[in-house]
Amino acid sequence: MNKRDRHEGLGSGGFHNETLVIHSDDEVSNDGTVAPAIYYSATFRAQNAAEFADMAKTPHHPRYYTRYGNPVHERVEKVMAELEGTETALVTGSGMGAISTTLLALVSAGDHVIAQTRHYMSTAKIMDELLPRFGVEVTLVEQADVTAFADAIRPNTKLIMVESPANPTLVVTDIAAVAELARPRGIIVVADNTFASPINQRPHDLGADVVVHSATKYLGGHHDLIGGVICTSHELAERIWRTHISIGSVLSPMDAWLLLRGLRTLPIRVERINANALALAEFLEAQPQIERVYYPGLASHPQHELAKRQMRGFGAVIAFAIKGGYEATERFVSALKLPYNAVSLGGVDSLVVHTAAMWRGVMTEEQMRIAGIPPNFVRFSVGLEHIDDLKADVLQALQAI
Ligand SMILES: *Cc1c(COP(=O)(O)O)cnc(C)c1O
Repeated sequence: MNKRDRHEGLGSGGFHNETLVIHSDDEVSNDGTVAPAIYYSATFRAQNAAEFADMAKTPHHPRYYTRYGNPVHERVEKVMAELEGTETALVTGSGMGAISTTLLALVSAGDHVIAQTRHYMSTAKIMDELLPRFGVEVTLVEQADVTAFADAIRPNTKLIMVESPANPTLVVTDIAAVAELARPRGIIVVADNTFASPINQRPHDLGADVVVHSATKYLGGHHDLIGGVICTSHELAERIWRTHISIGSVLSPMDAWLLLRGLRTLPIRVERINANALALAEFLEAQPQIERVYYPGLASHPQHELAKRQMRGFGAVIAFAIKGGYEATERFVSALKLPYNAVSLGGVDSLVVHTAAMWRGVMTEEQMRIAGIPPNFVRFSVGLEHIDDLKADVLQALQAI
């Protein structure tokens, strides 16, 4: 498999993503069923003592003890490695499980980490509080500025964490440029690809060493499970797995099975979600009640050219600001009938959040302003409802404010 082929959407054996998500796991525990079996077993029997000894010393064995691996995990891992173009993958019990396990596996006291000023909130907490507690220094940089990453590099820089596009204003990081800074210095680049999905962006092709996901979002795709995935080389995966079995962020076999079911339709879901979201973003931009729309697929996004270069589609999440302030924004969100007022993103149902309402009580208005969250800010994760119905719903809610 070469990278050029992958950019045409082709993976192992020359197959497209739509085929890879159905067949990459064909050879795992092939017991003649068409739908995969759920291996609801905490532990697995060896045929004899020699086999047991072998299982016990094989890293990431899929049939030894479910914290170490499980046949349903193995299926998900095969599919995800194909989609991200990495040698292998490791599933975890949540997206945060994937991120914290990766970071704790790869950095030690005395190391330096570079991360972005904007990250998923719990990732930001790892950078602000957890890593410093263990003697790891962290520098946060403005992600839109590649020279800020370059200037932050020190002799002890071990890892750079990127996340693109990032909440809440969908700022984009030039992943290839960051990877180019890191590679000659032996710095590991970890990319949180949750907001893009592997259908829209492949950070490993752009030079990232480790790609992490919250599988809770597009990969599962139905708002029914919490899970995570780490996609990387055999070498790094084994190092991360050794920490994983100590931390114990394990995906249940049932949730792994639901995740596998979700992955079977990932390419077609993301394709339709991309189309719906772009159409809705353009529609919003044309409405007089809207102050500004943030979506990397719009020509008005300050990094639209970069987004087009590193993404094949722009995803579900649109952010926008409503004219009229906090109360008007509350009225708008309450007047919407189709999207549920709930956190998360990338699933079949549209979800909407009034960001300032979510953070009120947790952050002061001043802190929100610094974080780029004005009081009239809305985050909309576009689902698979018909685009005409979504537009009509948004229009009636705008007229209600
Ligand atoms: C949701 C999310 C996470 C955390 O994932 P969980 O599955 O909720 O633990 C991490 N990063 C990003 C970008 C997310 O959207």
